[in-house]
Amino acid sequence: MRTPPGRTVAHQRREYTTMAEPVIRIAPPVAELIGPENTAAARRPPNRTYKCPRCGGQGSFAQPSSLVVMVADGMPTLVRYAHPACMPSCVQPYAPQSFRVPDSRAMHLTAALLPGRHGYRPAVIAELTGRETIVLPSGDRLDGWMPVLLDLGLSLLASLEAAVPAAPGWSIALPGSCSGIISAPDGSVLYHGELHQFAAWRQAIAATGHAELLSGVIGLGAAAPAGPGAQLQALAEAARAGLLAGGMVPVTVLCRPGPLSA
Ligand SMILES: [Zn+2]
Repeated sequence: MRTPPGRTVAHQRREYTTMAEPVIRIAPPVAELIGPENTAAARRPPNRTYKCPRCGGQGSFAQPSSLVVMVADGMPTLVRYAHPACMPSCVQPYAPQSFRVPDSRAMHLTAALLPGRHGYRPAVIAELTGRETIVLPSGDRLDGWMPVLLDLGLSLLASLEAAVPAAPGWSIALPGSCSGIISAPDGSVLYHGELHQFAAWRQAIAATGHAELLSGVIGLGAAAPAGPGAQLQALAEAARAGLLAGGMVPVTVLCRPGPLSA
């Protein structure tokens, strides 16, 4: 038996009303720390759900939530939503290393040749598929991955044309033609998984022994169907928006494919 149309409409309207006015509890010290503009922005969450920093479970803005601000020495202020039962709205200290949670599933790697003044430059683009909101003490909002990359020695890139500085301690290893490993200076493996390589890229790597490691929240995957030109534009826009970090990183080929080793 079908649901009478009237009931469906009433149900949708009730749901819409709940979504339009999420109840977000914000304690005065939290509002004072992040300022009126960020407090107002926090009352309009961009998504319907959030990940609770205490229990790790999903929360829905259809239910009340708490705004939690996490602070650590020398690190940006992190703004998160939490289940009110898990955490009341508060200012919470955190350990800076809790930022460094390597999870290869949250990263997608692309081997690319970028046009340069002296020919093509081999690059590995490590795109974060998730995103966390960060509010700097200055009040600026920043992507959550950027402070980690900068803290680990990558540089903020203002444009794709600018020379990419060396990133001491970083390394890329290629165990095969379909996989890659990215290690940070502190020894942590940030990525170990798929990296599809093509012949011209591998030749460029063999010639220089280096690649530009570029990372951020770029929208490369979304631009892929429109072709390499659109992907290059997405990279350039990420750089202009201050959301692209990079460094020149040595690449070690751990396993050469048959034809090249002869
Ligand atoms: Zn929770």
